[in-house]
This record gives sequence, C-alpha cells and structure tokens, in this order.
Amino acid sequence: ASECTQGPTIFSKIISKEIPAKIIYEDDDCLAFRDINPQAPIHFLVVPKIVIPMLDSATSENEKLLGHLMLVCSRVAQKEGLTSGYRVVVNNGRDGAQSVCHLHLHVLGGRQMQWPPG
Ligand code: AMP
Repeated sequence: ASECTQGPTIFSKIISKEIPAKIIYEDDDCLAFRDINPQAPIHFLVVPKIVIPMLDSATSENEKLLGHLMLVCSRVAQKEGLTSGYRVVVNNGRDGAQSVCHLHLHVLGGRQMQWPPG
C-alpha cells in the first residue's frame, strides 16, 4: 500500500476543470469521464472528488463514498446503454497495474469481456 504517495494527480486537474475531459456524470462527491485510452467501445472512469490515492488508502470513513462510487458506475453504465452487461475494475498498486494514484473505478462495456483477465 506504499506505492502511491499522497498528492494531486492529473485527475485532480480534471476534477477542477483545469484540463479537459469528456465528463459524462458529475455530482458533489464524484465525477465520471471517458478514458483517454479506451480498452472497450465504452470505457469510462468514476473518481471521487477527494483524493484517495488507491483502494488500500481507503478507510472506514470512506465507506459511504465507496458505495456511492459503485452505484454511480451502475447508473452511468445504464445511461450509456450497457444493457447486456459491463465490467467494473479497480487496479490497486503495481501488480494491479495502477498507473494514476487517485482511486478510480473503470467501467468497460460494449463488447464481450473475457475471464480470466490478463
Ligand atoms: P490505472 O492503470 O487503473 O491507474 O488507469 C488509469 C487510467 O487513466 C488509464 O486507463 C488511462 O488511460 C486513464 N487516463 C490517464 N490520463 C487520462 C486523462 N487525462 N483523461 C482520461 N483518462 C486518462
């Protein structure tokens, strides 16, 4: 859990609108925007507005927020028309292939997913 250091990332600049992103949902606590390097026909990220560097940084104080992020994934996936299914992914740390140290949920859909993932 020590691989992400506290501090702003590019996602903070997206949240503050300092850099553009294709935002598809926003509320007081989170933002959803399209991934710049999509791995499926529909690929968006759901990020909390507060900086939680990674899943391992979350505490019980974040419990309600974490639940909210999950529900937003579902709500936005349905809004995006993913009626036949989709995948929600959290990459955590180096072996999890996390590259941005601001917790985010990937939502991927619009094609048949394979299991197990690579
Ligand atoms: P992860 O590997 O789980 O940390 O995923 C980070 C994701 O953020 C990758 O899928 C990137 O393509 C995506 N990403 C990085 N920079 C941006 C950006 N400026 N706008 C949208 N998505 C981004």
